[in-house]
Amino acid sequence: MLESKLPAVGTTIFSHMSALASECGALNLSQGFPDFPAPERLRQALARQALEGHNQYAPMAGLPALREAIAGQLAHHRGVVCDADTEITVLPGATEAIYCAITACVSAGDEVILLDPCYDSYRPAVLLAGGVPVHVPLDPVTFMPNWARIEAAISRRTRMLVINSPHNPTGAALAREDLETLNRLVARHGLLVVSDEVYEYLIYDGRTHHSALQFDALRAATFAVFSFGKTYGVTGWKTGYCVAPPALTAELRKIHQYVCFVAVTPVQQALAEFMRAEPDYPLTLAARYQHKRDLFNRALAGSALRLTPSAGSYFQLLDYAALSDSADVQLCEAWTREVGVASIPVSVFYQQPPAQRLLRFCFAKQDAVLQQAAERLCKI
Ligand code: PMP
Ligand code: GLN
Repeated sequence: MLESKLPAVGTTIFSHMSALASECGALNLSQGFPDFPAPERLRQALARQALEGHNQYAPMAGLPALREAIAGQLAHHRGVVCDADTEITVLPGATEAIYCAITACVSAGDEVILLDPCYDSYRPAVLLAGGVPVHVPLDPVTFMPNWARIEAAISRRTRMLVINSPHNPTGAALAREDLETLNRLVARHGLLVVSDEVYEYLIYDGRTHHSALQFDALRAATFAVFSFGKTYGVTGWKTGYCVAPPALTAELRKIHQYVCFVAVTPVQQALAEFMRAEPDYPLTLAARYQHKRDLFNRALAGSALRLTPSAGSYFQLLDYAALSDSADVQLCEAWTREVGVASIPVSVFYQQPPAQRLLRFCFAKQDAVLQQAAERLCKI
């Protein structure tokens, strides 16, 4: 019998809940993806690029034109200067970027600090590298990091820390002071960082996204990970990128070239074309998604569900303590079947879930779907 390398791992909660939603005909606010179309110009560009014959392998690190467009966007929107040849790698999704970064740097016995609740792919990647995940909880109310507690978890074996802002599943966003504190911590302890910034443009109420790439010590020690799936509303195109200093990028590419080798060519062509044509498209996202967050939250005003408006990402947490004593996993399934609204239980993102009653709802959905979902939730 084959001994599993990930004995505690099953099918992801996202696949499970999306399948259940479709089986029950429920409104699917579980898995994070838009149910409305990506910009037509982008979709047309992909069709045309494929028809024009851009269908063979791209260069391993990504199409130069796309890497140049990414470098341009980083300079223009974040004031970050980076070298498109030696510091930017295009990969088939942020998930692979995270996997390659962790695999490149973590050896048997190395500790990696993960902040709970955290995205589901981090821990398995650390385990497969032979590393030891050290889970430190975020604040149970604000979901912000307690840096003193994180520093106390650093040992001689600590190799890496993974951060994620705006945050999945909670919607929290790190403040400038958090990044400044982390910058000092990284300099003091010589840590590497994976900074998962896939929701960088989905940030609300006038907040600013602070990239790890904007802080000196972090810039030298960080794999910053981004996803075209989130920014351009094409999660099914599975294309993302990683920005890291040349020495880190070289190691990341050694792994990437044997995991996937390259990202999909016509998708990269189409993205490069769209980024050149509409460089400020990402800046339009915050207002559009904030409208959706607010519509959903307003429509829930009459319900007993409690919320703090999400600061970023396209996720809103709802506290159902006033409605049910059930565990979140069970309640999530029950509401998918009986109420017709699918969500994601938050406890699955923890190693040691605290006593809380929270569900995650994705508001990257058509306004009418959000309205209808809220109406159903209000009737509970
Ligand atoms: N990190 C976070 C926090 C995410 O929510 C996602 C979403 N799927 C990813 C990484 C992976 O992105 P991709 O689909 O580009 O692999
Ligand atoms: N990131 C998406 C979410 O959090 C899902 C990605 C996936 O299905 N693996 O819902």
